[in-house]
Amino acid sequence: MLGRRGMPLAAIVVLILDAAAAVRAQDAAPDCTAQVDVEMIAARDDVPAGPVLAVAMACRSSVPVQFFGDGSGAAAALKSVRDGADRPIERDGGTWRVPPEAGVATLRYRLDLGALARAISSVSVAVSRGEAVLSVASTWLVEPRWQGTAEPSIDITVKTPPDTVFLAGLPESNGVWRLRGTTVRFMGYTVFGRAQAERLAVPPPAGMSDGDQAYIDLAILNGDFDVARGDLVEWVRRTALMTAGYWDGFTNRRMLVALLPSPGRRGVGYGRTVPGGGSTVMVQVGERSSRADLQNDWVLPHEFVHTGMPFLRGNGTWFMEGAATYVEPIVRARAGWKTEAEVWREWIENMPRGLSALDSGLEGGSAYWGGALFFLMADIEIRRATAGAKGVEDCFRGARHEGGVMTPTQRWTVGEYVGRCDKALGAPLMAGMVARYVGTSHRIDLDALWRDLGVRLDGTTITTDDAAPLAAIRKIIVAGPPGRMQQKVPPLAN
Ligand SMILES: [Zn+2]
Repeated sequence: MLGRRGMPLAAIVVLILDAAAAVRAQDAAPDCTAQVDVEMIAARDDVPAGPVLAVAMACRSSVPVQFFGDGSGAAAALKSVRDGADRPIERDGGTWRVPPEAGVATLRYRLDLGALARAISSVSVAVSRGEAVLSVASTWLVEPRWQGTAEPSIDITVKTPPDTVFLAGLPESNGVWRLRGTTVRFMGYTVFGRAQAERLAVPPPAGMSDGDQAYIDLAILNGDFDVARGDLVEWVRRTALMTAGYWDGFTNRRMLVALLPSPGRRGVGYGRTVPGGGSTVMVQVGERSSRADLQNDWVLPHEFVHTGMPFLRGNGTWFMEGAATYVEPIVRARAGWKTEAEVWREWIENMPRGLSALDSGLEGGSAYWGGALFFLMADIEIRRATAGAKGVEDCFRGARHEGGVMTPTQRWTVGEYVGRCDKALGAPLMAGMVARYVGTSHRIDLDALWRDLGVRLDGTTITTDDAAPLAAIRKIIVAGPPGRMQQKVPPLAN
């Protein structure tokens, strides 16, 4: 029945109905609504002002709803917990159970988020700087669950006092933030209170319709930085630009990036990406950092690689960290922030750290360098098999394109990722690499690999040999194929 070209009418009708259903799912009345009223408690003694939240979550259900509090201690901090009829509800462990009334189960509570963040002070739960709090959503928002509903949709509205912000990575329209297709636990970072916020326009991801805007909401929490605020903004904007060059448009149509000052420290610290429902990135920035420290650091471009991929569940850590570790120096080199020789030097010095991971079939050892070594070999294999026409960037861009622009907010298996990557490559090249190296011990001869590529490190100097068998591939791995050169991005420091 399938014609040689095009698809049968029935299939087209089904596709149109699916698209309509998808639009309806976005617009449909949500399973739950959460109303959040923020109040800034005034500063007293040496305690700065901070946000206190009054939350009312209501879920449409015919059976009792369990509202789960965060396991990190936040559940115990919820005060005045009541149902829709203003009756107190007892906590059972970290859970409140509310039977529906007229088809709606409601939980109300208050939380002094500022006090909680000062007490916990953890970048993976909640942390305070000045009069702002950076926290994952599950710290302040209970997670509703009831029989028959796995991931209830939640529309969140937040009322903030003047001169304060609320920021999240979720899609937002007309003041409503929409959580879809994931749970509160994976919803990512949020910012409340007084922080510098700026919306940065970025090149839209490939596949987005014309006229759609893509942006980063950047929040800079209060700190005594040596560099100007404008330098921090430019650092994030230019890192997004170089990322967009590699990915053919930025990785997401919207994103929250939060910079958390580290008092008295120099350099960029820990970074973390949490993508559920919408991408969010947290990066610690030492207050004593210079522009050169920011420019020469790997953490933010590394996190931005993560934001181009879904979270890979199961044994996906080596794949995610390997991709980010391998791609990050390439992104910076293609933008002109690093030389090709510096990239090879970094690889020759560090790839030995991945040998034990390959030896264990990528089930142990360093997920970062084991994964990076895997991707170097995969990149060589893809370029060899396609006579230089394609490389790993086509795998990464292709998987996102196959999965749609919301891909980075989803959770896939490695197998699902590899299938979509190979569809874009036009051959099961990545599947072949995974079958060869995952679960099977391999001793990699790195000296032979560098010799075949024609690259050598003498002391601190890189020398190359264009007569080596893989020299042609070596030349396009870092710089990209001729004719597809990436736009340079002006450096931050000279
Ligand atoms: Zn990482």
